[in-house]
Amino acid sequence: MLGTFHPKNAEHSKTGEPKMERDSRGSFLHIGPMNKCLISRRTFVETMVLAATTAVASRSAVADEPPKLDVNDPAAVALGYVELASKVDTHKYPTYVQGSNCDNCLQLQGKPGNNYRPCSLFPGKLVAVSGWCSGWTAEM
Ligand code: SF4
Repeated sequence: MLGTFHPKNAEHSKTGEPKMERDSRGSFLHIGPMNKCLISRRTFVETMVLAATTAVASRSAVADEPPKLDVNDPAAVALGYVELASKVDTHKYPTYVQGSNCDNCLQLQGKPGNNYRPCSLFPGKLVAVSGWCSGWTAEM
């Protein structure tokens, strides 16, 4: 406990001396017995372990997720990848089939429900389910 020293509130050692120390600002730091702590040592340790475990789990979950495919990535540019199928340049890609997109492409992998999923043509990257590229293949 940090505060101003008052003899009435001081803890005393066996010799009767108050157990007080000063911090770097000159304020008194009250060193009391552990049984006066508001939380137990066990609770403190359990809380710290839980916090550390949560931090590691969330960090690894983010680290495990592949990055989204950048439309400027050379492989994406080569296949005319766009994040919105409605933006396909139909003059450049006249074989574009109306209504086709990554979500109904045979190459799309991963679980339905995610807006970005793996694609077998762009390993290690996620594509937008609303996207399209010239590698589009109709699902069977
Ligand atoms: Fe989308 Fe299919 Fe092209 Fe992959 S191959 S980016 S799933 S259209």
